[in-house]
Amino acid sequence: MPELPEVETTRRGITPHLQGQRVSQVIVRDRRLRWPIPEDLDVRLSGQRIVGVDRRAKYLLINAEEGTLISHLGMSGNLRLVDAGLAPLKHEHVDIVLESGLALRYTDPRRFGAMLWSLDPHNHELLIRLGPEPLTDLFDGDRLFSLSRNKTIAVKPFIMDNAVVVGVGNIYATEALFAAGIDPRREAGGISRARYLKLAVEIKRILAHAIERGGTTLRDFIGGDGQPGYFQQELFAYGRGGELCKLCGTTLREVKLGQRASVFCPRCQR
Ligand SMILES: [Zn+2]
Repeated sequence: MPELPEVETTRRGITPHLQGQRVSQVIVRDRRLRWPIPEDLDVRLSGQRIVGVDRRAKYLLINAEEGTLISHLGMSGNLRLVDAGLAPLKHEHVDIVLESGLALRYTDPRRFGAMLWSLDPHNHELLIRLGPEPLTDLFDGDRLFSLSRNKTIAVKPFIMDNAVVVGVGNIYATEALFAAGIDPRREAGGISRARYLKLAVEIKRILAHAIERGGTTLRDFIGGDGQPGYFQQELFAYGRGGELCKLCGTTLREVKLGQRASVFCPRCQR
């Protein structure tokens, strides 16, 4: 599933090919995504120039002169640039054809993604209640500390809550808690301010590193497969249940927290 770093990599990969381009046509071959693609998307977007591409959480905001295409990659979606004449394959549901002769092609085998139109995207119902971006100053350990007081839920689902901070998926939560030495089962409300300060720093470091790694794959957005560099940095805990801790040699444990597999080192994480 594309996580925040992959979505940010996608944004960086497609922006140079979209910015300043006029849309000549929108071709929708299958409207049935998580929500139906609006019937009038072609009428709304065609003829407009794209002024830029922003990201909010895992939503891409493709801003036209008037209005914004809000796109989410869901579980299996990707966006890439192809020659507009290239015949579409199965699951290639949408083409946004540009004056340049390229098309931004949306592929999504599982169709959990989204393509919606909004004149006011930041106040769209999908975006308005989102917490701060993790790599901005609006997110820090003080926020985690203050929002967690009296909370009895475990710290891992707490930091994965989009109202607390966006973009901390299972991989990043697992790795950040390992790096901060915090047991993912611990009650969010019982963790000290000092430990939350450390945790916030680790969340930022790990996400920033993953985005940096994704940057090495930007060329894959034109003509390539549109699969950005997935999290390839060394994993200490995620996906390693039953294996040995790289720091202390203890067997890593796996438990379920908020329906998600959670791996941790019982010795390094307290
Ligand atoms: Zn350990």
